[in-house]
Amino acid sequence: MSWEKNVRRVVPYTPGEQPRGERIIKLNTNENPYPPSAAVLPSLIDIGKGEFRRYPDPKAEDLVEAIAETYGLTKKQVFVGVGSDDVLAMLFLTFFNGGKPVLFPDVTYSFYEVWCDLFRIPYTAKPLDENFHIRTEDYLSPNGGIVLANPNAPTGSLLPLSEIERIVSANADSVVIVDEAYIDFGGESALPLIDKYENLVVVQTFSKSRSMAGLRVGYAMGSERLIRFLQDAKYSFNSYTLSTPIIRAAAAAMRDTEHFQQNCQKIVRTRGRAERRFRELGFCFEESAANFLFVTHPLLPARQIFEYLRGRGIYVRWFDRDRIRNYLRVTIGTDEEMQEFFEVLEGYVYKVRSYGAGEETSC
Ligand SMILES: *Cc1c(COP(=O)(O)O)cnc(C)c1O
Repeated sequence: MSWEKNVRRVVPYTPGEQPRGERIIKLNTNENPYPPSAAVLPSLIDIGKGEFRRYPDPKAEDLVEAIAETYGLTKKQVFVGVGSDDVLAMLFLTFFNGGKPVLFPDVTYSFYEVWCDLFRIPYTAKPLDENFHIRTEDYLSPNGGIVLANPNAPTGSLLPLSEIERIVSANADSVVIVDEAYIDFGGESALPLIDKYENLVVVQTFSKSRSMAGLRVGYAMGSERLIRFLQDAKYSFNSYTLSTPIIRAAAAAMRDTEHFQQNCQKIVRTRGRAERRFRELGFCFEESAANFLFVTHPLLPARQIFEYLRGRGIYVRWFDRDRIRNYLRVTIGTDEEMQEFFEVLEGYVYKVRSYGAGEETSC
């Protein structure tokens, strides 16, 4: 047993279920229901040429350049990694080394507290208000760093850019990470602020709006100085993270802006239709700027709805966590998937409600 006292113990992050099978509708991990840009294909079928005997480009220049061109940045302002989870972990490791606690909301991406535990970073979770909105004032006191998902997950709420700027400008002594995994579905990016604030870093991903969750690509954008520190840590850990075909595929996808925009527009339209259906069935929810809705029903327990749907091959996300135990996070799928989802949900709501006293509900 003696070796066990030297183990770095941590309670791991619990990812959403990844069920396999054809007859399922998967609305539980915010993946994009549409295929990625067709431009990624050639990069992925080049394996036969023998190029992959060699190590990949550790700087992933092709991809870094595509991102820099798309967002009007220099290449030195861009950092890439194996999904934004990899990028975020490296940011925590590099920048959250003060004695003061790192701040993030109590209801947010649950990986933040896991990285803090893993890296032994002190943190304080700041409660969202009763509508699950961030209170800017909570982030104006001394801290060892700040991380905000915007739009937030699992709530979908968007913090206006002016509030982000208030937080960043009041915290020149710490690094502020804005995790924009869902920004392309309707939010205003904090990216224009990186030239003004050296302590701001914006993180985005190919997993959601670019339909490439399985390929694992994410990126950070910030001041050249900040990105240099991040790179120093990364090259001290693992220099060859992205493989050659993935670097090329992601660069090609980034350059296909037309496909990307159409893809996002389709999801935003379907989200609008889903909002109306949820409302008709008596569900309550705040406005979402993401590719999911965070819904609750005044009469029906979320867990029971979750289990009923699951029994019929429809997966949504239910979190066994304080404050949000009676909510479901439902990813926006294709129109056909949402149609099927709502048929099953409607069946459940009517079945259960007909036994009840027929109470009227409102949000
Ligand atoms: C999905 C998600 C990520 C991680 O995405 P990757 O697939 O690792 O790029 C990061 N932050 C939030 C808030 C997310 O929802």
